[in-house]
Amino acid sequence: MAQSSEIKHDLIILGAGPAGLTASIYANRAAVDTLTLEQGNYGGQMNLTHELDNYPGFSAISGADLSAKMHEHAEKLGCKFSFDIIQSIEKSEDEGFRLKSSLQTYKCRSLIIATGATPRPAGFAGEETYTGHGVSYCVTCDGFFFKDKLCYVLGGGNSACLEADFLTRFAKKVIMIVRKDHFRATASHVKKVTKNPKIEVLYDTSVTELTGDGTLASGIMLRNNRTGETTTETYDPGSFGVFVFTGFIPNSSLVTGLVKTNDNNEIIASETMTTSVPGLFAAGDVREKPVRQVITAASDGATAATSAALYLGNLVI
Ligand SMILES: Cc1cc2nc3c(=O)[nH]c(=O)nc-3n(C[C@H](O)[C@H](O)[C@H](O)COP(=O)(O)OP(=O)(O)OC[C@H]3O[C@@H](n4cnc5c(N)ncnc54)[C@H](O)[C@@H]3O)c2cc1C
Repeated sequence: MAQSSEIKHDLIILGAGPAGLTASIYANRAAVDTLTLEQGNYGGQMNLTHELDNYPGFSAISGADLSAKMHEHAEKLGCKFSFDIIQSIEKSEDEGFRLKSSLQTYKCRSLIIATGATPRPAGFAGEETYTGHGVSYCVTCDGFFFKDKLCYVLGGGNSACLEADFLTRFAKKVIMIVRKDHFRATASHVKKVTKNPKIEVLYDTSVTELTGDGTLASGIMLRNNRTGETTTETYDPGSFGVFVFTGFIPNSSLVTGLVKTNDNNEIIASETMTTSVPGLFAAGDVREKPVRQVITAASDGATAATSAALYLGNLVI
């Protein structure tokens, strides 16, 4: 299909998770001509969690509701959004940026990458085969399908704890598989799972394989990481689920050849969200940072938009 003429804006924000949505609000308030592009749902990963209880001002809110509130807020202020899937980004000769989708080319003088992160597969044999057929990365999306069934939750961090606790609303029992001899979650999250009578924790354990007929899983192989001993549990085909919360991969592939990243492909940005490329800023989970949360993504978005506005000459501080 022939591409239509270029769409030009001073600033483009790629991604409308909490980082991108906040950046769009701050850019709008600084009177910067801005377009925010999103390929999926407004709110990004927030849509994957049933409840957030650590975003100030909301003692308990579903991820979908907070996403809708942030998007409504931005739209009310007049922020512009478009749905598109950007497939390539290049720096153009006049020092701006050119973003291409299959349908459209966008041009901007400054760019904020707020593309977030994607759940990291745990890496056991059969994981890909049974994804969507017993293996899931989202309790909010798939927990309901495991009503009164046994579920395994892989991971020992905050997300694993919160989601395991939530999963007990549906599942008859949850077995948490923790690689080490301890959780790496905050005390309140650990308490949630250790006090929940429907949750059993297997420490020092990894899943090595899911077995079955290629459509429905019927066996799970576990390894004791201290002794190396393996055991296989077998069930009726399709009668159990495996939820994976073992980290994230930054969505930085569009700019890895352009901008400085670390060994994990996270974009390196300064306190002002400035990257190694003039005019290119990074915000949220896509950048190297110690705390990946909604509040820190929103904070990054505010800072990145302010820096972009300064770069474009719209702000005098
Ligand atoms: C299960 C789970 C539970 C969580 N619980 C909490 C919690 O309780 N409290 C908390 O504070 N945080 C929680 N988090 C973490 C929090 O959701 C993230 O830190 C936060 O959403 C990161 O925001 P972001 O804007 O950087 O990225 P994301 O939320 O990942 O958003 C990035 C957006 O960019 C879009 N995008 C990517 N590539 C492109 C492209 N090429 N073109 C167009 N758009 C693109 C994506 O579709 C997405 O909408 C949880 C995360 C998960 C997965």
